Amino acid sequence: MKTTTRAPDAGWLEQARRITGGQVLTAADDLQKYSHDELATPQYNALPAAVLKPGSEQEVAELVALCARTGVPVTPRGGGTGLAAACVPAPGGVVLSLEQLDHVVEADPDNLAITVQAGLTLNRLNQEAEALGLYFPPHPGDEGACVGGLVATNAGGARAVKYGTIRRFLLGLQVVLASGQVLELGGKRLKNSTGYGLQELMLGSEGTLGIITRVTLALLPKAGSMQTLVVSFADLDRALDAVPGLLASGVVPCAVELLEHGVLACAERHLNRRWPATRGRASLMVILDGPDEEDVLGQAERVSAALERAGALEVLLAESPARQREILELRSLLYEALRPATAELYDICLPRSQIAGHVAFVHELEARHGISLPTYGHAADGNLHTHFLRCALVDGAIGEELPGWRELLPVVRGELYADAAARGGVISGEHGIGQAKKAYLEANLGKAVVETMRAVKRALDPQGILNPGKIFEP
Ligand SMILES: Cc1cc2nc3c(=O)[nH]c(=O)nc-3n(C[C@H](O)[C@H](O)[C@H](O)COP(=O)(O)OP(=O)(O)OC[C@H]3O[C@@H](n4cnc5c(N)ncnc54)[C@H](O)[C@@H]3O)c2cc1C
Repeated sequence: MKTTTRAPDAGWLEQARRITGGQVLTAADDLQKYSHDELATPQYNALPAAVLKPGSEQEVAELVALCARTGVPVTPRGGGTGLAAACVPAPGGVVLSLEQLDHVVEADPDNLAITVQAGLTLNRLNQEAEALGLYFPPHPGDEGACVGGLVATNAGGARAVKYGTIRRFLLGLQVVLASGQVLELGGKRLKNSTGYGLQELMLGSEGTLGIITRVTLALLPKAGSMQTLVVSFADLDRALDAVPGLLASGVVPCAVELLEHGVLACAERHLNRRWPATRGRASLMVILDGPDEEDVLGQAERVSAALERAGALEVLLAESPARQREILELRSLLYEALRPATAELYDICLPRSQIAGHVAFVHELEARHGISLPTYGHAADGNLHTHFLRCALVDGAIGEELPGWRELLPVVRGELYADAAARGGVISGEHGIGQAKKAYLEANLGKAVVETMRAVKRALDPQGILNPGKIFEP
């Protein structure tokens, strides 16, 4: 695709200031925050030429029209919590931050729906749903993420086993196209067979097909009760072998997280708190929810029985909300605990039956290359998180930097992705492709699929101004 982009000059910035009432940042100190997302690797970071902070959907449309007229590349940004370097600007381009578009447009409990501006954070969305006595189940780990970003990455999280990803909750969108034209897609209806699914096309499009300004999301009645089980096993294989029996028990768990005790030790040190299970080398953390306590305790009994049949060493029930929070925090802070030593984080997603084989392959790579690749994840939906560590990890303590890790990184990454593809997996289950994984997209999906994606991109963004260089090369 031939792009015709250029950097903004002083006259351009003046026009942008006129549109936004002066909300344009150009000072180096102000731009720094917009030069990266939460991906640990700094190699993709780049300062934008300017940051535009529109205060309304109309201003977004006018700014994009300005970019289209002048060929200036524009990268939308929500909370900047992404893990694929997808909201990092293209060289010479501007960032369009949605942070000021953070209002609730309409709360509609009768239709179990809420319409919000794209810059509303997940944290605020949860509060708004709670105030309605309702619930927004998808929960990617960082509540600073914005609703537009959740849609643009089709975010997932641990509760996808029972509730699915953002895809399942997306009802409607307002999108600004590369021309500046505004589309209203979907609505509050649960069914729609009226033409192409343009709204679904925006899911996971990472700002490359349009800028999302408003989102209508489905909500659910709030679960009346929740329980967390921690179930330990002799080793990871036994824990994984137990998952099919758990899913066949008739209970649909909210989440089933796979955790190796050796990896958890890192979070235990970080938080100075102990994981409740003391026996074995791996645990499943099972979260159950339901209309009331009796229902959830019934589910817990069936799950415990299924896991005991599969060789569980101990089954611990965290009854109080405080205890549940403590356990969840240890799982949630695993990423933070490993982050100082992390060079890259992967989010491969596999058919469930292939998880054990892939994890065994990860351990083989650790032994073959003398590195640590701590792995945990969402055991019941096949989405694993593997960290490539620059340092050794011994008993949960981060050790010295390993010589030669830089040379090993692309080798190990390539081997992990090739193994995932051979097992029918994808290289991203929830974080997206961004810049970090684009070199591997074609090997994973095949040339014809990527060419079709490019054709869609050309049709919707013929000049290539929308977030160029993400998902694939321009
Ligand atoms: C500690 C931690 C835990 C996490 N856990 C999870 C998890 O469990 N599951 C999961 O899925 N993710 C997880 N993430 C990743 C991240 O939170 C998600 O990818 C989230 O959806 C990104 O939202 P954001 O608003 O921060 O997007 P950004 O990082 O700002 O942008 C991400 C992409 O979306 C595009 N974009 C943003 N806003 C718009 C818009 N309005 N219109 C069009 N395109 C837009 C950007 O251009 C970019 O391509 C985690 C991140 C962290 C730091």
